[in-house]
Amino acid sequence: MVVELISVGTELLLGNIVNTNAAYLSERCADLGLSCFYQSVVGDNEERLTDVIKTALKRSDILILSGGLGPTADDLTKEVAAKVMGRELIMHEPSRKLIEEFFNKKGSKPTENNWKQAMMPKDAIVVDNENGTAPGVIIEAEGKKVILLPGPPNELIPMFEKNIVPYLSGEKSGIIYSRTVKICGVGESKAETMVKDLIDGQTNPTIAPYAKNCEVHLRVTAKAADEKEAKALLTPVLRELTNRFGANIYSMDKDTTLEKAVVDLLLDKNLTVSTAESCTGGMLAARLINVPGISNVYKSGYITYSNKAKRKILGVKQPLLENKGAVSKETAEAMAKGAAAISKSDVAVAVTGIAGPDGGTDEKPVGLVYIACNVRGKITVKKYNLSGNRAKIRETTVSCALILMRQCILKYDEEVAGGKR
Ligand code: ATP
Repeated sequence: MVVELISVGTELLLGNIVNTNAAYLSERCADLGLSCFYQSVVGDNEERLTDVIKTALKRSDILILSGGLGPTADDLTKEVAAKVMGRELIMHEPSRKLIEEFFNKKGSKPTENNWKQAMMPKDAIVVDNENGTAPGVIIEAEGKKVILLPGPPNELIPMFEKNIVPYLSGEKSGIIYSRTVKICGVGESKAETMVKDLIDGQTNPTIAPYAKNCEVHLRVTAKAADEKEAKALLTPVLRELTNRFGANIYSMDKDTTLEKAVVDLLLDKNLTVSTAESCTGGMLAARLINVPGISNVYKSGYITYSNKAKRKILGVKQPLLENKGAVSKETAEAMAKGAAAISKSDVAVAVTGIAGPDGGTDEKPVGLVYIACNVRGKITVKKYNLSGNRAKIRETTVSCALILMRQCILKYDEEVAGGKR
């Protein structure tokens, strides 16, 4: 089955809002095993929307349109889709009642144009909107399916998950089941090379690599009659990937982020942590503190941007700063020592670098970053030469720090504690 996405809204064309619906829908369609070859964005204009729908009907089986289902005159997705499909609009009594109840609950009265949202193409499937007033609509005709969804993501996503996924799943025999192997500490090209033979020889399951923010994700997808069969197909491939990537795999759970994996490791090993940051200015602390449960392990965060702060707060010595510079292996190490000493944490991570755009020299260019990780006195310092603008360098630094923390904790555990504590 070929699916085509049409995002409707002049705001999208003007760049006023980012088309997150298209990103979400494409990912979910891929999960469901539907091929998506085309996507379009079109403004709230009858003629051009008609044109886009007609073109899409020629080349795709399922059209998913988002946006333009609201009550105002420029919301015309449903009207145009109905016209193209040759369906008149008639009052849909259950939708009319739901709109009435929705406004009653809010203690307000619907305006005349709200009733427009209860007008539905004849013989269409109407999909409840539990988070807004615009119901979704499915029009089926001549082997094609046209699915209309409301624009706001907080309405579209729950509707898609609850109603459209089961509807689309009935469209094909069997199921599509995926697991994502999340890898850190291995570069994108190296990771791809490591699985090239598997990718080249793949049929079912398939392996799709994605690189994101210092991580590589391998999505392994199986098509099968049922979940049990799909899992059985995935098991040997996941085992093989585990053999190849070992401890570089931080999770196979789709909801586990790198920072969550690090926090889980700290919790598991019963280790407290503190952070000392210069160029990232608290971003590392913020990413760790995003994870629920961090309060059990996180002790202190120090933003020591100036040399004076590095000296006064972390006890970095003035001669060291003068001789080696604030961005140096030695300063990173001293920051990690100081942070551990004053916070009395088991793990202390320190970051110092040049995020640019100014401040770089031939010897110490923009993007030069040192990260030190101190696990109970065992200090590892790594040098990085990162590229990109200031924001990118700072963001990458945080990911590198998380990866280094994870590696150092695992290494410490293996060497010192023998994996038992
Ligand atoms: P409403 O009932 O709120 O009018 P609608 O179906 O008419 O819903 P639109 O008016 O097209 O939807 O969009 C409403 C809001 O939804 C937009 O202002 C925007 O915040 C969000 N939105 C719409 N389309 C997208 C999209 N493709 N990606 C992300 N957000 C979107």
